[in-house]
Amino acid sequence: YQAKEGSGSVAAYDSTRDAASTDRLALLAELREALAADDQLVLVLQPAVDLATGAPTGVEALIRWRHPRRGWLSPHEFIRPVENSEQLGTFTRYVLDKALGLAAQWARDGLDLPISVNLSARSLLDPRLPAEIAEALRRHQVPARRLVLEITETVVMSELEVIDEVLGTLRTMGVQLAVDDFGTGFSSLTFLTRIAVDELKVDRSFVIRMADSPEAAAIVRTTVGLAQQLGLRVVAEGVETAEQRSALAELGCTAAQGYLFFKPMPADKIGAVLGGLVDQARPRIVPLRADG
Ligand code: C2E
Ligand code: MG
Ligand code: MG
Ligand code: MG
Repeated sequence: YQAKEGSGSVAAYDSTRDAASTDRLALLAELREALAADDQLVLVLQPAVDLATGAPTGVEALIRWRHPRRGWLSPHEFIRPVENSEQLGTFTRYVLDKALGLAAQWARDGLDLPISVNLSARSLLDPRLPAEIAEALRRHQVPARRLVLEITETVVMSELEVIDEVLGTLRTMGVQLAVDDFGTGFSSLTFLTRIAVDELKVDRSFVIRMADSPEAAAIVRTTVGLAQQLGLRVVAEGVETAEQRSALAELGCTAAQGYLFFKPMPADKIGAVLGGLVDQARPRIVPLRADG
């Protein structure tokens, strides 16, 4: 960086930085409004399916922000600033509350599927998290087993002691844990020796490259084998083609998620979609509905 450039370019550099941080602050102020107004942050839902039967095995909740001026925002456009702000706790509670509300609704409709919620690794540093989750489970009357928390291992390694305790308490409560984007973190394998988890999610980058990269295929095969040996479920992420689906089945992967099966959909669609699927896959357990 040239300190001795004309004052014009220095000013330009500074104003860009100012613009970026002003924008970040504006976004966080708007998030505060969105959380209070309770009508802008929306969960869309993407089922995972059993590769052998096509039956849904669970549903992942993915956040979207219907911003009054900026339009629909994806998590990539706002999660990072939220994670680095003091609003993370409020945001995390908001998402968990919405997700458990949906799970409770499905249970009333006769759909007993687990809901997976993505947690920012930083929210695991808050020792109050397990009690808050316990309270939300009670309030919505959702059994702990029906909640799966998806975590990525990368950041998690930095503060292992707090996180061990938080995750340990959650597991004791019966909440399930999944490692998201498995294989992309720095210490995936060490992580598994520290924290008992229930599920590994094979990152989409390996699924995409599986066909033409022997390395990617080997990583998928090894992850599936590791899950089998540890008695964990394994779910492949981002499956878009029939070729990927059959390659995964050949490698022994039992469940998958991706546009080939379902794109993320609004909450008011999922009942109809999954109701039909569950009825098809298990024709003898068609739920009896009081409102018939
Ligand atoms: P993730 O948990 O790994 O979620 C998978 C992402 O891949 C989602 O993007 C999903 O919409 C997308 N996806 C699913 N199937 C396919 C496919 O077949 N092809 C392609 N190209 N993409 C597919 P999304 O919804 O934009 O979420 C991105 C990331 O943001 C998530 O990655 C997760 O880490 C984070 N995230 C989402 N919702 C939340 C939330 O409520 N809280 C927190 N802390 N993070 C969230
Ligand atoms: Mg996820
Ligand atoms: Mg993922
Ligand atoms: Mg991902």
